[in-house]
Amino acid sequence: MRVLIFLVMTIGSMEAQDFSDYLWDHHSKYQESSLSHRRFKHKDLIPLIEKLPVNNFRVKQAGKSYLGKPIYAITVGNGPITVLLWSQMHGNEATATMALFDIFNYLQESELPEVQQLLSSLTLTFVPMLNPDGADLFQRRTVQGIDMNRDALKLNCPESTILKALRDSIQADWGFNLHDQNIYYNVGQTAKPATISFLAPAFNVAKDVNELRADAMKLIAVMDQALQKIVPGQVGKYDDTFEPRAFGDNMQKWGTRTILIESGGLADDPEKQIIRRLNFVSIIQALQAIASSSYANYDLQSYWDIPMNSNNLNDLLIRKVTVPGQGGKDYQVDIAIRRQEYDKKGSAPLSYKGTIEDLGDLSTQYGYQEIDGQGLEYAPGKVCQQHAGDFNALDSSKLMEVMKQGYTYVSVEQQHQQQPSLPFDLVRPDYHPLTAPKIEHPATFLLLDEGAVKYAIINGFIYDVEDSEPILGNGWSYK
Ligand SMILES: [Zn+2]
Repeated sequence: MRVLIFLVMTIGSMEAQDFSDYLWDHHSKYQESSLSHRRFKHKDLIPLIEKLPVNNFRVKQAGKSYLGKPIYAITVGNGPITVLLWSQMHGNEATATMALFDIFNYLQESELPEVQQLLSSLTLTFVPMLNPDGADLFQRRTVQGIDMNRDALKLNCPESTILKALRDSIQADWGFNLHDQNIYYNVGQTAKPATISFLAPAFNVAKDVNELRADAMKLIAVMDQALQKIVPGQVGKYDDTFEPRAFGDNMQKWGTRTILIESGGLADDPEKQIIRRLNFVSIIQALQAIASSSYANYDLQSYWDIPMNSNNLNDLLIRKVTVPGQGGKDYQVDIAIRRQEYDKKGSAPLSYKGTIEDLGDLSTQYGYQEIDGQGLEYAPGKVCQQHAGDFNALDSSKLMEVMKQGYTYVSVEQQHQQQPSLPFDLVRPDYHPLTAPKIEHPATFLLLDEGAVKYAIINGFIYDVEDSEPILGNGWSYK
């Protein structure tokens, strides 16, 4: 008997792996090409929703945002098991919304037996972009300034009321709470980013595991298995401390088996297009496992074995830099730098502001990019007094020559309106750079090798001054 059960489970999981391979390999076929970055707006989704074929998608306006923008509930399938999926409760957490539109395209492949099984077993209701006012401002909170994920009980936001009413009317058996998390989360004690993190939220302070929460945990084990093959070691588990005001925790309490999916960071994926693909794979894989009940074959230990998220990653970590101290008191530090992203306008590339996050012995910290600073000496950059506009005409190799001479700042007069997009920080002519690194200060300085500039770090981006084809980041204006 034991052998038989083992055999059945092995076959089941092999099929699951083949299916996730198929989804990963064929994602481009289903990818909604009009969504190519994370700052799309509510108005960008309307035509995509309107073009969904009415023979299988039932689109209804579930209500309106505080500013009166329609919030849509899109239902597909006719099965007895009800599933509610909502994204962008936090307006600037857009990765899963892109994946949901890819899933809509996949669900139109009615000749695929997997799609047929999904739609006959499940009734799926999707709410892409639950917080359109926040999304249009690319901000986490609603336009009322409220964190919707602390509003599940008071329902002060119309968007919260909509979500609660949908859950109650559908009596959702399963819920997918789709978010983005800090890109600086790493998996356990490893240098790997938590590219996707999961949680089966607790429904009480004691963090009890009832049958519903256990089902959610087993489903997460299904998704973890699918992702481990694609991004090994890059799946984390979110903290399960009970938050009485959060939607996930309350959904679980109200009787919906709830799964939190958090899209984190991945090297060289600033627009999270690979992470979108991981969402596509893991969500469809999960729906398939619900439809076939195969999730029930997974054990809870697989969920508990997923390492916890830590918060020890940085964009850039430079180890063992020598800082010249006063009176010859030199000292050695590791320097951690994070670059906060800013949405300047619509679809233009994101801008970043680089800041020194931490300093000292950072042997427990990691970086997406790490540099060995042993033998290198910290030095402040110099302010170039030429007009910022003069630099616009320079190609990247000329810009590197300027850096090699030790310039990291360009002075700008007050009246200079037009800010050129340069890899240098813009400062007033009398700006005095710091003579030693300091936390929460701009990440702009030089690293010298035997007195000569080896690296220029400007606004958190590092440049090897001998690099003839550098990838240029943006500078920041401190004028
Ligand atoms: Zn969130």
